[in-house]
Amino acid sequence: MRLIDMHCDTIWKLMDLDKSGNLMENQCSVSIPGMKRAGTMAQFFACFVYWKDMPGGYEEGYRHVHEMIDFMEEQIKKYPEDIAGAYSYSDVMENNAKGKISAILTVEEGGILEGELHRLESLYQRGIRLMTLMWNYENCIGYPNSREASVMEKGLKPFGIETVRRMGELGMIVDVSHASDGTFTDILCCAKGPVVASHSNCRALKAHPRNLTDEMIRGLAEVGGGAGLNFYGPFLGTEDASLIDEMTAHVLHMIRHGGEDFPMIGTDFDGFDGIERLDIPGVEYMERLWEALRKKGVSASRLDKLWSKNALRILKSI
Ligand SMILES: [Zn+2]
Repeated sequence: MRLIDMHCDTIWKLMDLDKSGNLMENQCSVSIPGMKRAGTMAQFFACFVYWKDMPGGYEEGYRHVHEMIDFMEEQIKKYPEDIAGAYSYSDVMENNAKGKISAILTVEEGGILEGELHRLESLYQRGIRLMTLMWNYENCIGYPNSREASVMEKGLKPFGIETVRRMGELGMIVDVSHASDGTFTDILCCAKGPVVASHSNCRALKAHPRNLTDEMIRGLAEVGGGAGLNFYGPFLGTEDASLIDEMTAHVLHMIRHGGEDFPMIGTDFDGFDGIERLDIPGVEYMERLWEALRKKGVSASRLDKLWSKNALRILKSI
């Protein structure tokens, strides 16, 4: 069982939150030893910028993303036997054949483009292969998820449409997680390349604006996209706990409404705290979820799709 996780915030935790540790030894949920135990084939690492923390706003955020990419390049150089950068499906397969974990870089917060398409091109050249267009604030691309209907119905801005189109041309995966419902709909309309919700759950099971409605799940599945199961308690169903029983329910719901080619894993590891009970505290415990789903009657072939095959299909399309 090979694992691909579509989203973690480990770079952010190492660089910004803990300001200590590295990929081999850290206080994080994701580490090289943990990924080895889990049989990780590829880990998507988000360069997440919380621009409100930065005196220089998005401008500083853009520079910081480059520092995050530098950091990951250094880490990969430091542990070349264990981990390697990956920029395509064939890179992932080659790394896997050599027994190496693939690190795929992403950006979480498209606001750092600040209306400049050449920034997107620079990020692509530096290896970014997926961008989460929004975080929880309005930006130059569009509007975020919100409990306010007036925000939730607003969609892509003209620069957002340009960005989504250019991402398709370049070969970058468009990530709708954190977007408003209106932005989601607009993205599906104008995207030419692959679209995913890298770390979002089902709104039918937990009414949270970060989660996907059944209609959104169907729409995303129709264009060949998928969603990564998020382990954050408030998106699963319980405020202060991340429970396996709730994870399995979301996976089964995704399969019911999006089909077996829809669900992926998008843990959100190292992107949240304040959860008292964590049934899967780190990547090394992922087998617990596999076992729980197997006990619920999920077939081995469906588990393989959830674990890696669906993500590989998306990677193949860029
Ligand atoms: Zn996120």
